Amino acid sequence: MSRKFTGDDLILATHNPGKIKEISAFLAPFVSTFKTAAEMNIPEPEETGVTFAENAEIKARAVAMASGLPALADDSGLCVDALDGAPGIYSARYAGPDRDWSLARKRLANELGDKPRHAHFACAMALAWPDGHCESVEGRVDGLIVWPERGEGGFGYDPIFQPIGHDLTFGEDQETKKAISHRFRAFDALIHKCFL
Ligand code: IMP
Repeated sequence: MSRKFTGDDLILATHNPGKIKEISAFLAPFVSTFKTAAEMNIPEPEETGVTFAENAEIKARAVAMASGLPALADDSGLCVDALDGAPGIYSARYAGPDRDWSLARKRLANELGDKPRHAHFACAMALAWPDGHCESVEGRVDGLIVWPERGEGGFGYDPIFQPIGHDLTFGEDQETKKAISHRFRAFDALIHKCFL
């Protein structure tokens, strides 16, 4: 039996502005107030897990312990079949210490060359309570890597990811992203598990 979220306050355990924007919009109907770990000056823990789910749990638990409130974390990334799932859990690190996303996209396109372009975005979400209890869910969306990049919307790899069955990248079509993304699908699973 999964634990339900019954309180009013929740901490969003991320410092990533792109994720904050997307998750805030999803959360608004379900939680009366929420703050981010960044706003509360809670540092990000080291992501020592080897899966998205492990890293989401590490982040959610660290922020729940530090804040004394339930915390929701997202660990996500882009997995390219022809690169054996890379960059995967290292998706953020492709951008280097300056978080240069243009560089990360170029690096990925160079590594892919003319190999097959199938990829998926994966998202694990974890909701942790200060007593150590944690609930986890996952979501994914399949697509193709395109080059050159298209669109200015979103963040990270959005301009080079075109979901299957669509003609526009996530960078060009944020409305479609909101409806079918890996993050939306994980969040939808979390809502059914812990909020309804
Ligand atoms: P982390 O989960 O904070 O370790 O980093 C995930 C990284 O994966 C992000 O910084 C992005 O580069 C990439 N990523 C995750 N979700 C998305 C997305 O929705 N669009 C584009 N890139 C994403």
